[in-house]
Amino acid sequence: MSLKGKNAVVTGSTSGIGLAIARAFAAEGVNVTLNGFGDAAEIEALRAGIESEFGVKALYSDADLTKAAACAGLVAYAQENLGSVDILVNNAGMQHVAPVEEFPDDKWDLILALNLSAAFHAIKAAVPGMKARQWGRIINTASAHALVASPFKSAYVAAKHGIAGLTKTVALETAPFGITVNAICPGYVWTPLVEKQIPDTMKARGMTEQQVKDMLLAEQPTKQFVTVEEVAALAVFLAGDNARSITGALQQMDGGWVAK
Ligand code: NAD
Repeated sequence: MSLKGKNAVVTGSTSGIGLAIARAFAAEGVNVTLNGFGDAAEIEALRAGIESEFGVKALYSDADLTKAAACAGLVAYAQENLGSVDILVNNAGMQHVAPVEEFPDDKWDLILALNLSAAFHAIKAAVPGMKARQWGRIINTASAHALVASPFKSAYVAAKHGIAGLTKTVALETAPFGITVNAICPGYVWTPLVEKQIPDTMKARGMTEQQVKDMLLAEQPTKQFVTVEEVAALAVFLAGDNARSITGALQQMDGGWVAK
């Protein structure tokens, strides 16, 4: 069965990995709801570009997913305007880098809200429709940091380990209903999220910019950043029929990082 005509919500899809995932689904004939922040004109150009390039419907919502009600609202918006949410990609995320004793309380709360609780609230809203239709795909963009830690990223690593547990739990609950729930665990992907943490990491570790980049890639035996297109292709595979027996998986795509 092709994915053509299915409806997807991809959170945090105005940039980076989420945008690549939304475009990859659209290329398969999936209607997409984009979400995230950024310049209104640039986002409209992305949305309209997806519609004209791939001949699908593309919606956009600026829902702030650090707010629980906005997560359910985003799912409801897609259901009302597309008819269903068949594929939910919980991808929106942010990072902050600081030693734990200096880690700002508000950053901890925001990162837990966006990188973990938002996925819970969106899943809770989307699962009833998926159960009713006996088909659904939930894909969480986790991280290698769902499996291993790095210093100075307490909130991010805690949230990503949390999403690993959420993925496995919901996979068990929904398995009898034709729904799969998986997490993709990328290593370092060159996106604005990684670019923005370079200055803070330079400060926290007393390093130059080049030293920070070398340190990031030192984690990955391939010595290459993962690309957004690679992550998107895995998301499309996980939504397809050949992945119907993959559920509750924490799928690494990290150049060998966590194998070490
Ligand atoms: P990015 O900064 O390019 O994109 C983040 C997206 O989230 C943007 O669209 C942004 O507007 C949106 N966003 C931010 N705050 C939001 C909010 N409150 N409500 C709704 N949307 C919001 O980052 P990225 O690197 O593409 O990251 C995407 C996901 O991939 C994140 O969950 C991140 O943790 C994960 N990830 C990234 C890497 C990496 O190396 N880049 C590695 C592993 C996992």
